[in-house]
Amino acid sequence: MLTKRLHRLQGFLLLVSRRASNVAKQQYDVIVVGGGHAGTEAAAAAARVGAETLLVTQKIHTIGALSCNPSLGGVGKGQLVKELDALDGLCGRAGDWAGIHFSILNRRKGPAVWGPRAQLDRQRYREFIQSELLGTHRLTVLEGSVEELLVTEPNPEKPGCHRVTGIRLGGSRSISASSVVLTTGTFLSGSLFVGQTTSPGGRIGDAPSSAGLSHTLREALGLRTGRLRTGTPPRIVKDSVDFSQAELHPPDERPSPFSFLNTHTRCKPEEQLPCHLTLTTPGVERVVRESLHLNCHIQQDTKGPRYCPSIESRVLRFPGRKHQVWLEPEGVTSDLLYPQGLSMTMPPDAQLRLIREIPALHRAEIHTPGYGVQYDFVCPTQLDPSLQVKNTQGLFLAGQINGTTGYEEAAAQGLWAGVSAARSALAMPPVTLSRTESYIGVLIDDLISRGVTEPYRMFTSRAEFRTALRPDNADLRLTLKGFEELGCVSSQRYYETVRVRDSLRDALEALQSIVLSAANWRKKMPDILMSENKFTSLSGQDVLQYNTVSFEMLASAFPDTLSPYMEFSQRLKIEAVYRPHCDLQRKEIERIQKEENMALPQDIDYFSLPVSLSQEVREILDRVRPSTLGAATRLQGITPAAIVHLLNYVRHTG
Ligand code: FAD
Repeated sequence: MLTKRLHRLQGFLLLVSRRASNVAKQQYDVIVVGGGHAGTEAAAAAARVGAETLLVTQKIHTIGALSCNPSLGGVGKGQLVKELDALDGLCGRAGDWAGIHFSILNRRKGPAVWGPRAQLDRQRYREFIQSELLGTHRLTVLEGSVEELLVTEPNPEKPGCHRVTGIRLGGSRSISASSVVLTTGTFLSGSLFVGQTTSPGGRIGDAPSSAGLSHTLREALGLRTGRLRTGTPPRIVKDSVDFSQAELHPPDERPSPFSFLNTHTRCKPEEQLPCHLTLTTPGVERVVRESLHLNCHIQQDTKGPRYCPSIESRVLRFPGRKHQVWLEPEGVTSDLLYPQGLSMTMPPDAQLRLIREIPALHRAEIHTPGYGVQYDFVCPTQLDPSLQVKNTQGLFLAGQINGTTGYEEAAAQGLWAGVSAARSALAMPPVTLSRTESYIGVLIDDLISRGVTEPYRMFTSRAEFRTALRPDNADLRLTLKGFEELGCVSSQRYYETVRVRDSLRDALEALQSIVLSAANWRKKMPDILMSENKFTSLSGQDVLQYNTVSFEMLASAFPDTLSPYMEFSQRLKIEAVYRPHCDLQRKEIERIQKEENMALPQDIDYFSLPVSLSQEVREILDRVRPSTLGAATRLQGITPAAIVHLLNYVRHTG
């Protein structure tokens, strides 16, 4: 029923889009260029904030396309998806709709660093994003290629400063806007590589962005750009794979939805598809080495994604090792497999020889060869915290154009740029998102203050306050702010989050109201392994911190008080475990925030400071000499612990 509805919607979208060029107006509040992961979130967010928005993209049917791996989330990335959902973004709900294999990565570690992840059905993901955009009020979608940005001459009072006024499409048609969000991904001066063949392109089957766009950015606006690369593996015919020679990896028994609005995923637990794991052999390394002279992409020293390297980079960097290859389904009805770990750019005949060196793939057939792409990015230190170009009022950049890699990183920037662009166009006060309240804040702060030297991806280790920035509490951290301050959250989601917040508060009060001595706890719940301790009494909240105690156990011991809150049992358990640490961290954050502007003496000798700082930290501080504590916190390599030591030192000596 739902699928039929979606097909109808998709057909309608195509119809509308073909007509869209005729119906698009001459003036919008916000124009978003590019319908990838950044662009779709940006356009939807700008419209939610209240801006009349136009999304211009090269091809309507590629809106929401997954250029590389058919998956969403993972460690660090899953946190971004939960936060995007908390701000009413699209990708979490799209993941729940399109997911065919759900798993929580990192389960052996604490819930703060769990990584919600799903393998996706490509087709379903695209369908969902397209139908959502179609249903978004105040949003028009237009198929076309933006050839140039329209900008004013530099302001004589502020030399070098411009203002964006709109876009120019092919055929010289111009459309004006107060804000433009550029999200052209890998398409800016994009070149594709397979073996010794190079051709212009942003992705296989898609032309690069026009040279005029690069010209505006580099020549007219004087922006610094760099070049990065990435690649994708060949797609393999599923029926040609010998799964008996690979290790089966089933999904989680109960799929966990990404979206706070969903209690279950579209895919039923028993309908999920498995993944398989296999390993490379010495033959793989041999084929890589034999074909190196025919592999243009790998011979260039453009930087690629360090944490998602090609098979060529892996075997050259770690010779003699066996490397993991995940065989992942591409969709429910797809005949193809995505071999994660086998991204490659050698000639197609060498690609076939290589994959057949892997026992599970010894008879495998390639449907589409792997290829590489090299593209320009804009150095993101030229952006302000709203992702607006510092010297060009109204121009915002988001996604891979800022030097990141990955759908989630792109989507997160897109949503933020969309909110910022809409607020700027509607003359609403600017807003901020700090690294103490979200991974999105960490991502943006890292990009604009540290820049990138290689494709940037998110990790939990990048977030100093990760025990507070958990996937389970993204709604409490962001939805209320998203509604009350940012304006990008629907009232339906807001009131649901208010209900959750109030219920959790009541549940915590109920837990705290149960206070017993350790001996009485043991009498009441003989199964709990509670050692004698110095506390005379413990609350339900204290007891819930014990590994052996679950909320369900407490609720069956105190049904009248606790059973109304069973819906939140897992959240309450996680909250209880992390609360003491988070309270301490919160105090630290407040202390650092209060002291953000504390001046650091410029003659300070960092090498002889009598505090516990590593040599690396001392060297960074000595080299950069930050003027304030806030500036020191934003330096790459400076840990929160180092900031606390620095703060204590300056306070006591100053
Ligand atoms: P994209 O998703 O690339 O979308 C850009 C959009 O802009 C497209 O719809 C395009 O048609 C449109 N566009 C471009 N120029 C114009 C114009 N002038 N006018 C109108 N529309 C325009 N990520 C990983 O994490 N790991 C990987 O291994 C990986 N491998 C990749 C391999 C390849 C070959 C490619 C192409 C990408 C790979 N990615 C990988 C990156 C991932 O696809 C991106 O990070 C993500 O899609 C970026 O989203 P985006 O919105 O910034 O850009």
